[in-house]
Amino acid sequence: MPIDPRAPYDPNNIFAKILRGEIPCKKVYEDDFSLAFHDINPQAPVHLLVIPKGAYVSWDDFSEKAPAEEIAGFIRAVGQVAREAGLVDPGYRMLANVGGHGHQEVPHLHVHLFGGRQFYAMVP
Ligand code: 5GP
Repeated sequence: MPIDPRAPYDPNNIFAKILRGEIPCKKVYEDDFSLAFHDINPQAPVHLLVIPKGAYVSWDDFSEKAPAEEIAGFIRAVGQVAREAGLVDPGYRMLANVGGHGHQEVPHLHVHLFGGRQFYAMVP
């Protein structure tokens, strides 16, 4: 079910539990601001999720409320994860679903990184 974009941050969402180490993940990267791990239900040969460590529901929430240092750190981390995964050449797709119409299911900001195959034009 897509999230309610107006709901306050839920500290018991699945990614908050991953951040606290309460449930496992296949971690590929971590720094002060960010964590990256394999998606549990991959939609491509490589499907990684990059999340900020701060409690932000979505890209909207994050871009409005996060300190500039956290935003810069997170954006750098997304690029670093893609490079370390060998996605830059031949290329990859990144995506963030936001709110109900975006069909965001987990209410903690995450950027999807897809790679390992050819992607085609976006379909609405
Ligand atoms: P959304 O639709 O919110 O953009 O995507 C949520 C993503 O989180 C989905 O691709 C889903 O497979 C992934 N996911 C959901 N639960 C878990 C989990 O417990 N562990 C991991 N690694 N990924 C999860």
